[in-house]
Amino acid sequence: MLWADLRAAIGQRLNCEGIISSAKVIVKDHSLAIPHLSVPDIRWINWSELRRRGFHGVVFDKDNTLTLPYSLTLWPPLKPSLERCKAEFGDDNVAVLSNTAGLFEFDPDGLKARQLEREIGIKVIRHKAKKPAGNAEEIEKHFGCPASMLVMVGDRHFTDVVYGNRNGFLTVWTQPLSVKGEPVVVRLVRRFESALVNRWSKKVNAVGRLKKLCHAILICEHLANLYDGVYDVKMYAALPL
Ligand SMILES: [Mg+2]
Repeated sequence: MLWADLRAAIGQRLNCEGIISSAKVIVKDHSLAIPHLSVPDIRWINWSELRRRGFHGVVFDKDNTLTLPYSLTLWPPLKPSLERCKAEFGDDNVAVLSNTAGLFEFDPDGLKARQLEREIGIKVIRHKAKKPAGNAEEIEKHFGCPASMLVMVGDRHFTDVVYGNRNGFLTVWTQPLSVKGEPVVVRLVRRFESALVNRWSKKVNAVGRLKKLCHAILICEHLANLYDGVYDVKMYAALPL
């Protein structure tokens, strides 16, 4: 294994920025980890409705959102949905923001990013900060619009969703495609995150103690239209403005 691959593997298990950020979310602001929408996978997202509502582009996480863990090829069943997404927004307005491919620290020569771009046909953003750290500067520069006009899609509450909410994206959480092949630590952390977010979400619905999460472009009753197909999913942010 190359040194860069080894560092990436360790880094995925031990995300120091992530640990600090998670502690802040747990202590201070639970709402940052709660997505606007939750779906089994990207096939359940209504891309045309998002476009119609005024969103300009979509940013995907990679591992367990578009690809199986550590794979650089699209999980085949997602291909039609990704193609619909690209058709709605245009190839240049769909991109990947990954904590592996395209991250300068773990992919310094952009080899993984280029391979992924060839495989799935969308741009992989090169960036310095590992989610959830960092602002949306590189993304906004790429898309030419504020992050509030973009959708962030990912499978981790404390990285993808926190990063997206903190920077003003509409956030969509997807269930992981497969936990097979994921390190035990990641699986345990994922379970811990889900348990916390489920608990906090119930509080949102029951007593409204958390900050309201409606996105600037949407009023909450419109969120239901963003699901593609019939899926009785809990709408975590379904509070009126
Ligand atoms: Mg992921």
